[in-house]
Amino acid sequence: MTMITNHMPTAELQALDAAHHLHPFTHGHDLNKKGVRVITRANGVTLTDSDGNEMLDAMAGLWCVNLGYGRDELAEAAARQMKELPYYNTFFQTTHVPAIALSEKIASLTPYDLNHTFFASSGSEANDTNIRLVRTYWAEKGQPERKIIISRMNAYHGSSMGSASLGGMVPMHEQGDMPIENIHHIGQPHWYAEGGDMDPEEFGLMRARELEEKIEELGPEKVAAFIGEPIQGAGGVIIPPKSYWPEIQRICDKYGILLIADEVICGFGRTGDWFASESFGIKPHIMTIAKGLSSGYAPIGGSVVCDEVADVLNGCEFSHGYTYSGHPVSCAVALENLRILDEEGIVERAGKETAPYLKGKWEALADHPLVGEAKIQGLMGSIALTPHKESRAAFAADKGTAGLICREHCFANGLVMRHVGDRMVISPPLVITKDEVDMLADRAWKALDLAHKQLEDEGLM
Ligand code: PMP
Repeated sequence: MTMITNHMPTAELQALDAAHHLHPFTHGHDLNKKGVRVITRANGVTLTDSDGNEMLDAMAGLWCVNLGYGRDELAEAAARQMKELPYYNTFFQTTHVPAIALSEKIASLTPYDLNHTFFASSGSEANDTNIRLVRTYWAEKGQPERKIIISRMNAYHGSSMGSASLGGMVPMHEQGDMPIENIHHIGQPHWYAEGGDMDPEEFGLMRARELEEKIEELGPEKVAAFIGEPIQGAGGVIIPPKSYWPEIQRICDKYGILLIADEVICGFGRTGDWFASESFGIKPHIMTIAKGLSSGYAPIGGSVVCDEVADVLNGCEFSHGYTYSGHPVSCAVALENLRILDEEGIVERAGKETAPYLKGKWEALADHPLVGEAKIQGLMGSIALTPHKESRAAFAADKGTAGLICREHCFANGLVMRHVGDRMVISPPLVITKDEVDMLADRAWKALDLAHKQLEDEGLM
């Protein structure tokens, strides 16, 4: 048998990957023709590939490595836990110390009375839990007809049948017959793309009020919950107008429906506070968490619920759970991650020092001729590429072509940025230094220059 290691030539690793590995959200044949990028190591905010190239990871992996790469304490916490108790479940009237300690730590960090966590292994699983949880909650309260969950177009809540149905991604719905029943979508608060000549705040109010219209249309007695990402991440880092969330909150309160804040990306410091619900003044009954909970070092997610929801849920046997709900190793890693984020003041520093510095650098990209807007909150930002700034026009080429061109120039120049259609997005590790922020902004500007030139040369502008 061939030993496959980091030291193998890249071409051999690529061939083996092409032969046996199916990639998420990827056109396999296209990728295999080109050859996949092999990442071999990472430290701080820097990734190294199999050819020895170094890249600044402005995406923190998939929005998750909040703590940065290479923290030995997390590896040690995992090893310790694996030796002591590598696995036990939390079914059948049993628990273990890592699950107790982590649920207590989460309760101490989350705002309001969000004091109870149901664990999963990912954001998708946690949102699937939420669907069953809110329906069970209402059934227990004697209102079993409350089944509908309202979400938004262009939302992302995961890839399983339930969570992808909550999401509002059309290409996902088209593959596999989604959404499942009793999930409905309203418009998104995406002023740049959809606001036309409206004032952004007016537009935000209008989009929030679609919730009220939808509740009235479907029948208020049938609506169980509303779910939203405080800032849409995978949809393109869409920071809603200030008017949006207070109006959503007012409507949820008025109709007494549960409000679920999907904090899978936004949580654990990303927006400059521990949770974006604090940044936007949202008071959710349920919060979905994952990603930054363990900084991606181990798979874990959860639904954090308020006292009242927990009380109702505890009044029945909720027939739901995963083999790895509260996996001891993931819990131990997450706990160590939260300890470091907290005790080293990383979240606080990200919000108070790094975020304002990055904001200045990021917003300056709006001066580039290819950029229609540059927005950022905390350490989560986006720029919209456009052939015409004043009108916020889209490119005539297929949506995403300009974004893809820009992303390729980023990679070639030592910067990992993601493109969502023709928006470029960032979400760097919270530990990024000011020097690294400078590097990020310089490389982004260079990639924009190169993309601009290529778009002009190819007649795409
Ligand atoms: N919710 C949001 C807001 C997300 O961004 C994601 C993942 N990008 C998920 C849920 C799903 O999480 P996972 O990929 O861990 O299943």
